[in-house]
Amino acid sequence: MNCPKCGRKVAEGMAYCANPACGAVLEKPRPAEPEIKTGKEARLSNFVSLARLAAFVLAALAFLYRHFFTGR
Ligand SMILES: [Zn+2]
Repeated sequence: MNCPKCGRKVAEGMAYCANPACGAVLEKPRPAEPEIKTGKEARLSNFVSLARLAAFVLAALAFLYRHFFTGR
């Protein structure tokens, strides 16, 4: 790629232009940002975390039940 300011050829991945007289900050192609979940996806995500919580609570209850009622 070339520096957008001075036009000098710049190596890929450089954060700044190699030309000391220029020193322009080069824009890098950003990694894809995580998409903000909206609407249906957010609700689905909430449902999944609720289901996980419920499964955890049930497992904990089952453990406590066995611990207290069959452990004698
Ligand atoms: Zn430059």
